[in-house]
Amino acid sequence: MNQFADSGRRQVLVVDDEPVNRQMLGFILEERYEVLYAEDGIEAMAVLQEKKDTIALVMLDLLMPKMDGYEFLKIRQQDESLRMIPVIVLTSEEKSELMTLKLGASDFLKKPYDMPEVILARADRLVELTENRRVIQSTEREKLTGLYTKQYFFEYVQQREFYFPERRMDVAALNIEKFHLVNEIFGRTFGDKVLQTIAELIEDYLSDAGGIACRADADWFYLYLDRPETSYEELMRKYQERLDNKIRELPIRLRLGICAAEDQKMEIERRCDRAKNACDTIRDVYTKTVAYYDTGLHEQSLLSMRLINEVDAAIMTNQIKVYYQPKFSISGDRPALMSAEALVRWIHPELGMISPGAFIPLFEKNGLIQKVDYYVWREAAAQVKAWKDRYGVSIPVSVNISRIDLYDPMLEAKLTGILDEFGLTSDEYYLEVTESAYVGDPLYIIEEIRRLRMLGFRIEMDDFGAGYSSLNMLTTLPVDVLKMDMKLVRDIHKDDKSLHVVEAVLDIAHFMSLKVVAEGVEEQAQCDLLKEIGCDLVQGWLFSKPVPPEDFETFIGEMISERMMRKRV
Ligand code: C2E
Ligand code: CA
Ligand code: CA
Repeated sequence: MNQFADSGRRQVLVVDDEPVNRQMLGFILEERYEVLYAEDGIEAMAVLQEKKDTIALVMLDLLMPKMDGYEFLKIRQQDESLRMIPVIVLTSEEKSELMTLKLGASDFLKKPYDMPEVILARADRLVELTENRRVIQSTEREKLTGLYTKQYFFEYVQQREFYFPERRMDVAALNIEKFHLVNEIFGRTFGDKVLQTIAELIEDYLSDAGGIACRADADWFYLYLDRPETSYEELMRKYQERLDNKIRELPIRLRLGICAAEDQKMEIERRCDRAKNACDTIRDVYTKTVAYYDTGLHEQSLLSMRLINEVDAAIMTNQIKVYYQPKFSISGDRPALMSAEALVRWIHPELGMISPGAFIPLFEKNGLIQKVDYYVWREAAAQVKAWKDRYGVSIPVSVNISRIDLYDPMLEAKLTGILDEFGLTSDEYYLEVTESAYVGDPLYIIEEIRRLRMLGFRIEMDDFGAGYSSLNMLTTLPVDVLKMDMKLVRDIHKDDKSLHVVEAVLDIAHFMSLKVVAEGVEEQAQCDLLKEIGCDLVQGWLFSKPVPPEDFETFIGEMISERMMRKRV
């Protein structure tokens, strides 16, 4: 819109039935503009329609034959494509001013005309203002959804709060549960449709309730709004219902995080972060759709900062330790130690023992996980070597590979380097890759895991059954061992359905020649059942919690004396 005319100059349309007036104005404006002329409203409207993309300004006389200026303004007012083109009304009557203002005129020039410079200056100013507005309008809205962009959203919230400081509003962050899966399974076009539909719901609501919204990025929306009269939970229920009606292909689940108005002193960007943090606390929590930012969360984010800042020093000073949890084979008459899983611990001098649940997800977000994991991998390899040297037996250890590690171009080199460094083979060093890593960018991940397997590494699929994959995924994925998630085995001794599920998993896994490890086995009854239905290995508190290497040696000692006993018998 509003390109320059072929002449390289902006166009002005002068509409006046008096030839003298046309000439005079033309003479003044020609200095800077390409001037077009019309003698009445009808002719003017025709020219304007034809050249609406290039005309930057209309100078309009009011009293003309055929169609007068008022009529012209009315028609222009109703046409969205013409409304953006500013009009200066040329008049000799004071009383017409209000009327033409109401009809959308931007400015007046009184006849007889002022000094030429004044006319030119007013024309310039108006053209410039209009163009600025156009530029702003084209950038302030995000293309896909038509909502504001994040930058303009921040800007407009600040403006509102500057002009109405006493009017307090909440900030909300809206997100779609597992949106990457929606995109992946149904394709981007469908994903776009989902985003657009959600944007419509938001706009609909805010146009009644007041407030503004933006799409911040991907599937994140920020809203600036009043607390609903009912509740946010009710609002979400309504959104959800309307969304289910509009998108029938699959259920799209929304979650909302709120940073309440009390925090208005804080910059809008930070309030949005807080709303987002709150929203993240109910990721995968299917019982809640709304979460509120509270000081607990604030403390948590302070703790996060602290952990991020201290991790390097923690590695250097051996606060980061590796614990080992044994895995036993239960196919024989007595459980036999087969291997161990390396699990990281942070023994903090002030905060005490920090469980990996508190820092692994955090470090996965910012990439620090690669550093921590490399350290754990080396420690674990050193441990296998140390036990080998001391006891003459090799206890294979599996290490956890985060999804983020799989994107590290140096991954293969790092792992083979570690084996070389400690003189181990890939029979003594297994890799656990969580099931959820296979989702997201599956082809890339699957390729990477194939390469690791080609190098000889045994891949254990961790957390199987935790919710991402399906049994038929197994047929295409490169894995050697299945680790059933604790959730899967938790109730097998209490409820037949759970048991049947586990049996089905075992059937398929064995059909595909995969060994199966049951994780989180806490009770003898669980273990007995697992043995009965043919589970190969178990790991869990029933046998041992993850323990420091010194304590783990008890299991190695027992294993060795067991073996000696058998020899003697
Ligand atoms: P995971 O790989 O699924 O590890 C199993 C978790 O279950 C461990 O929690 C373990 O302590 C716990 N567990 C074992 N047996 C039982 C049981 O009988 N009952 C119950 N309730 N829990 C049991 P932990 O050590 O807190 O680790 C949590 C998660 O953190 C791990 O889950 C893993 O995903 C991650 N993680 C731990 N160490 C590392 C590491 O070195 N690197 C990476 N990337 N992730 C790690
Ligand atoms: Ca694991
Ligand atoms: Ca697991």
